[in-house]
Amino acid sequence: QKAEWEQLKNEKSVTADGKEVILAANIGTPQDVEGANDNGAEAVGLFRSEFLYMDASELPSEDDQFEAYKEALEGMNGKQVVVRTMDIGGDKKLPYLPLPDEQNPFLGYRAIRLCLDQQEIFRTQLRALLRASKYGKLAIMFPMIATVQEFKDAKAIFEEEKAALVEKGVEVADDIQVGMMMEIPAAAMIADKLAKYADFFSIGTNDLIQYSMAADRGNERVSYLYQPTNPSILRLVKNIIDASHKEGKWTGMCGEMAGDQTAVPLLLGLGLDEYSMSATSILKTRSFIKKLSTEKMKELADKALDCETEAEVQALVKEYTK
Ligand code: PEP
Ligand code: MG
Repeated sequence: QKAEWEQLKNEKSVTADGKEVILAANIGTPQDVEGANDNGAEAVGLFRSEFLYMDASELPSEDDQFEAYKEALEGMNGKQVVVRTMDIGGDKKLPYLPLPDEQNPFLGYRAIRLCLDQQEIFRTQLRALLRASKYGKLAIMFPMIATVQEFKDAKAIFEEEKAALVEKGVEVADDIQVGMMMEIPAAAMIADKLAKYADFFSIGTNDLIQYSMAADRGNERVSYLYQPTNPSILRLVKNIIDASHKEGKWTGMCGEMAGDQTAVPLLLGLGLDEYSMSATSILKTRSFIKKLSTEKMKELADKALDCETEAEVQALVKEYTK
């Protein structure tokens, strides 16, 4: 089995009936790029940039960030790297950045909310990204977008910083895709509206499930509600993918669900374009996908969307992937 996976390292990810998808890696630091390449990643689907902030004793400078993004882009040799702008707050605190004490940090001041409020932090990161963009194929996405207005505001700041750099004569790639994480149910429900503005979506199922089920993703006592393949979640995922495709955009997934062997057949059937997971799951997933037919998985997904329970969905997946 290991030998078979090894052979798949430099191959594309193609289903039994010839549909190509992208299998990408989630990374936290530029050094993780090596593992991504070693495991046959076709892209980086999620660079969790907040690790640059968490591994530091003060806010990382524009130059420090520039070096990190450049290293990741160069390391991927022209393959796409999706950098998520910092997702601090919630459970991720910074010792040097005082944040308000909150009763519900997961529902509080985090990610894009913090960035739109403390814009100097956000603008510094965007400048570093823009300057690094000429070293590879960069895409940027904003975490925790809930509304069209938030996306527009974040994108406008990006455009302002880009224009200012160009004005100064700094070389900036002009094909940077700017997309968003889909991890809040409200955003998933208006995916058709957001798809007009975002170049792509990346579904963050770790949070999307938590917020949909109103069940803390780290709380053992309510973990029975953490059901990636519950029809409710599948319907949200379908809404997101369909909305992006209607606008000629693409959808990836960078939550744990993307590498989950029960979910992958369903996601193929729903038309997901990119699957981003921990690097060590990529070859196994590529091997699995090779055996699946998209047409059959569409039939599976249709039936799953109409199920009542996750248990029913899981039984269907078993039947269809035997
Ligand atoms: C997610 O929410 O699914 C996600 C990928 O982001 P994080 O796990 O970093 O919150
Ligand atoms: Mg998240």
